[in-house]
Order: sequence, then C-alpha cells, then structure tokens
Amino acid sequence: MSDTIDTEMRIRLEDELSRLTAAVAEIDASERESLSEASGENSYRDHMADQGSATFERELDLSLEQNERDELAEVRVALDRLNAGTYRTCSRCGAEIPVARLRAVPTAKLCVQCKEIEESR
Ligand SMILES: [Zn+2]
Repeated sequence: MSDTIDTEMRIRLEDELSRLTAAVAEIDASERESLSEASGENSYRDHMADQGSATFERELDLSLEQNERDELAEVRVALDRLNAGTYRTCSRCGAEIPVARLRAVPTAKLCVQCKEIEESR
C-alpha cells in the first residue's frame, strides 16, 4: 500500500521533472536568444510590440521562469525525499503526510498542520 503510493508519486514527480527540465532549458535558450537580439540592431520584439507591453511581457517571462525554476527545485527535493525514504514524513514535526495531500501536492514536505503554521508566520 505505502509502496504503491511511493511508486505512483515517483512516476508523477519524474514526469514533472522532465517537463520542467525541458521548460527551463527552453527558457535558458530563449534568454540567450533575447540577449543576442538586444545586442543586435534589429529587435524582433520591438517590431511586435510597443515598449510598454514588451516590458510587461519580459516581467511576465521572468516570473514564469522563476516559478518553473522553483518548481523544478521542489520536485528534485521531493525525489530526494522519496529516495531517502522520508517522502511521506513531515519535515517539520515528523508526522506522516496523508496520501490525499501528497496526491494533491506531490512536492509537499509538510503535513497540513505544519503548512498552516508556516504560512501564518
Ligand atoms: Zn507536520
């Protein structure tokens, strides 16, 4: 039973890992592209949008990018916890994290109570 949930979550986390690894690689590639664009005379982005919305898009890109990187880091931690056999243990109080919570949030490191305490700080 408990091994089954570990296997199920490992599959989900590894799926996430490859999706996010690809997404972050894509972001890195497009960053290199926009760097070379910025140094060139003719910027594609400037043709497509006025300065204001280009700046807005850039900020949106950055926050999306940060999300993906954060998620990737969380997925890696969750897989480490799976490998260490501590995946279902709350990293704060040591209680077992309910399966339903892990299914809803595969990267959860805390039980619901500890999560609430952390968030209310
Ligand atoms: Zn806890």
